Amino acid sequence: MIPVNEPALDGHEKDYLIEAIESGWISSDGAFIKQFEEDFSGYLGAKYGVAVSSGTAALETALYSAGVCEGDEVIMPSFTIISCAIAVIRLGAKPVFVDVESDNWCINVNQIKKNITERTKLIMAVHMYGHPADMTPIMEIANQHDLVVLEDASQVHGAEYKGIKCGAIGHISIFSFYANKIITTGEGGMVITSDKEMSKRARSYRNLCFQEDRRFYHEDLGYNFRMTNLQAAIGVAQVERLDEFVKRKRYIGKLYVDALRNIDGIKTQVEQKWAKMVYWMYCIELDESLGMDSTAMMQALRKRGIGTRPFFVGLHEQPILLKKGLVKSSDAFPVTERISRQGLYLPSGMTLTEKDVNTVVDAIQEIIKESRTGNV
Ligand SMILES: *Cc1c(COP(=O)(O)O)cnc(C)c1O
Repeated sequence: MIPVNEPALDGHEKDYLIEAIESGWISSDGAFIKQFEEDFSGYLGAKYGVAVSSGTAALETALYSAGVCEGDEVIMPSFTIISCAIAVIRLGAKPVFVDVESDNWCINVNQIKKNITERTKLIMAVHMYGHPADMTPIMEIANQHDLVVLEDASQVHGAEYKGIKCGAIGHISIFSFYANKIITTGEGGMVITSDKEMSKRARSYRNLCFQEDRRFYHEDLGYNFRMTNLQAAIGVAQVERLDEFVKRKRYIGKLYVDALRNIDGIKTQVEQKWAKMVYWMYCIELDESLGMDSTAMMQALRKRGIGTRPFFVGLHEQPILLKKGLVKSSDAFPVTERISRQGLYLPSGMTLTEKDVNTVVDAIQEIIKESRTGNV
């Protein structure tokens, strides 16, 4: 079986973990937390990092830090993980969905403007599957309307937009370090910003909103979203290797794309001229002319011992969000609908070999051929 994902933990991860255990600091006060925050924010070229327990927690913390509250509206892509909507709703604000671009699957910039109202507070740009969103026009719109820009950079550690690292472009950003992300701490996340006030609010929110000058005295309701020193120890070792990971991802990503491009009916994400993408997941979109959706392709690949995952289901199709009345019937999300049915990702782990890539590509070719002759 070629697994869909597998992290590489053979650097200093074990050494630092043992060091953390031997230091006796296993909760959130140890030295690795500060080092991980400094190393990763420094890598990105941003001033502050606030480590938290997950990417989902980071989203809520970042929105709180940006001042999003009850009654505000947040514009976000319809094609993303539910975490993005959950964080907004938990703060009493309203997610407003817009469709994504058909060549890079990130938020459709042209549709942001017409969804701005006097209640709009923030634009959430999600860099999708390793490819940056088009940030310059997003920042321009935000400046014109006095909005905050939050980047969800959970899928793009090390990617660049016009030479700047994703996560260091908007006013605030977040990362996830779940096991399948480009760098991992098992579970974990980080809020990144160069705004001192926002970083302070993030620190406060992750730790029950303790007052700096008067402990056990609270002016707001926070959370326990703290990361442990054990997780941060692994994180420090992973950041050391991030450039190496990005290089490997881009190398394998290009092998895949070059081979897949020759197959009729298969589309891949297209690297835009302003982007340095990191191929977090090696994704394909099956052309509708193949008469095959992602479920059928995934089943056929599974039979051949190849692990895959489907794309996200659009947020505008999520039963809970429909039930909450968050989707207008006049809204249309044709790209999201198409890719969520026709898209899947192929084995994408850090340990994937060139031979694995050939096996996967050959299998896809075979499956398509068999489906054309009617015996899949
Ligand atoms: C993984 C991911 C998250 C959530 O991160 P967790 O650490 O799993 O909570 C949020 N946004 C995006 C875009 C992600 O890919």
